[in-house]
Amino acid sequence: MFSNTQIKSFKKLQTPFYYYDLDLLSRTLNQIKEHGLSKGFHVHFAIKANFNFPILKLVKEAGLGIDCVSGKEIERAIEAGFKPNQIAFAGVGKTDEEILTGLRHNIFSFNCESLQELEILNELAFSCGKTANVSIRINPNVEANTHKYITTGLNENKFGITADKLPALFDLLPSFKALNLTGIHFHIGSQIRDLKPFADLCEKVNNLQDLFEQKGYQLEHINLGGGYGIDYETPDEEPVPDFKSFFDLFEHNLELREGQQVHFELGRSIVGQCGSLISKVLYIKEGIATNFAVIDAGMTELIRPALYQASHKVDVLTSSKPEKIYDVVGPICESSDTFQRGTLLPEIKRGDLVAIRSAGAYGEVMSSGFNLRERVKAYYSHKLENNNTGQ
Ligand SMILES: *Cc1c(COP(=O)(O)O)cnc(C)c1O
Repeated sequence: MFSNTQIKSFKKLQTPFYYYDLDLLSRTLNQIKEHGLSKGFHVHFAIKANFNFPILKLVKEAGLGIDCVSGKEIERAIEAGFKPNQIAFAGVGKTDEEILTGLRHNIFSFNCESLQELEILNELAFSCGKTANVSIRINPNVEANTHKYITTGLNENKFGITADKLPALFDLLPSFKALNLTGIHFHIGSQIRDLKPFADLCEKVNNLQDLFEQKGYQLEHINLGGGYGIDYETPDEEPVPDFKSFFDLFEHNLELREGQQVHFELGRSIVGQCGSLISKVLYIKEGIATNFAVIDAGMTELIRPALYQASHKVDVLTSSKPEKIYDVVGPICESSDTFQRGTLLPEIKRGDLVAIRSAGAYGEVMSSGFNLRERVKAYYSHKLENNNTGQ
């Protein structure tokens, strides 16, 4: 995966740091263009997965919009050059200030998650003399078969409006004079590798669309959210997710109306594979059943293993010796601060470099200052190749 030239430039940099392969990001975006945008689908990048400007620049150039979950993300997207009419705004806990930020910019859509939020949005929009475009986030009660912390479309989850609230919604809607209902929105979870949940989602969407029409609402758009997964185990075998199968599924299963727009909000599947966390080995410690390789990156730089029991492939970049068994662990005082357990890796010594792969999504953005750790740095392939190692 990494060339000798890349590894040579890594050796000159202070670890740990994130490294982004922008060429891989471009290839990923090209697949989205070829299989998604070409069908007339609209794709919003979920900016929460990675908000670095060089990444946003390529996403914008590819013609994607943005999906936000905070007011600051709306501002970040505007700063990166996205147009307000490309911005969708979801989240169960939008503050009044965040709603006002969205209203000020006249964003494409507020994806509303509760009846009370609709009421507040209506009041705030009315008070600014605006009409807010609203998409109702519906919880479709679809099993996403993913980790329970990133399952969002079941009745027990906090997201969206459940089906039992729809009669109340239809009663209330006519009284919301400052709202313009433009669509319905869904997002069933993340790291969904199997297409079955998305097929189930299409079926629910088709039924709901009929229901909205019976109530007299023609929906301008359907927003299916994101959640498509990536190959964490063997990233080099599938560096770009199979977007053809993903978009084809929706094309074949959705019963769309004339002129109706289809929107997606993809995060992980766009940026996950292009990022790696590069770290240096500090100590090797022989354990009872394994050897511990203590590296200088921890859960403060990449919390996914500790938070979601996620497994990221670890590549040893500077050794090709025979393999031994290792637990690759960080320096933080938590036993969950472990990247790999009982894995065979080429023999490691102090000073070796490792790459923790598939860390481009929900990696750097979730880094923390726990233990007064320094904010982790980021480098990009095109700059490293030009020998410019600035951020
Ligand atoms: C996080 C999120 C997404 C993106 O999810 P991925 O799994 O990264 O594709 C899309 N829509 C909403 C509403 C989200 O909260």
